[in-house]
Amino acid sequence: MIVVLLGAPGAGKGTQAAVLRDRLGIPHVATGDLFRTAIREATPVGLEAKAYMDAGQLVPDGVTIRMLEERLGRPDATGGAILDGFPRTAVQAVALDHFLESRGARVDAALLIDVPAQDLVERLSGRLVCQVGGHSYHVRFNPPRADRICDVDGSPLIQRADDAPETIRARLAGTLDDLNAVVAHYRATGALRVVDGRQPITDVSAGLVAALEAGLAGVQGSRQA
Ligand SMILES: [Zn+2]
Repeated sequence: MIVVLLGAPGAGKGTQAAVLRDRLGIPHVATGDLFRTAIREATPVGLEAKAYMDAGQLVPDGVTIRMLEERLGRPDATGGAILDGFPRTAVQAVALDHFLESRGARVDAALLIDVPAQDLVERLSGRLVCQVGGHSYHVRFNPPRADRICDVDGSPLIQRADDAPETIRARLAGTLDDLNAVVAHYRATGALRVVDGRQPITDVSAGLVAALEAGLAGVQGSRQA
């Protein structure tokens, strides 16, 4: 089962990915981790990606797809994976479809955690990030148990300088255009499921699980027919 998790920065994807991973028993494959692991382990495609990054260039989609292929070939991913951070553009979504098709698979569900732009700005400007593990919190929506201390590893939480509202608004604009194009792609393929991301975190989780189960039941039903 291949699940694509979609949402703008600040929509709470990281938190929900962990919930889905535990629920579905398939790994959470975040693009950032994918790159870091492939580069650290110096796999052939990892070295190729590193060469682009060292040269200050974007890693071509084909290279990212091969990294994904490597990752999906690992034993923990035999049941599928939750993709997070890829596809980021409509072009990548098409490339992913072609790649999965070549393996006799497809994106079974694309789950969108939907949050309006203005809410995103509010959320992102209150974000606190753990410098050690990258765990994220929010002063208002998801505060740590102790003030400015990470619940997971006890390290200090910081507010990034580029988390000012104007900076965020500018940064979001391009990202949202790309996200909307990816959403349109999965709406067209029929894989899209939308969950209102303005609800409390546990309700969003429940909504995602319900959307996924409803979607998969539909898929199974149509396969039997
Ligand atoms: Zn942490």
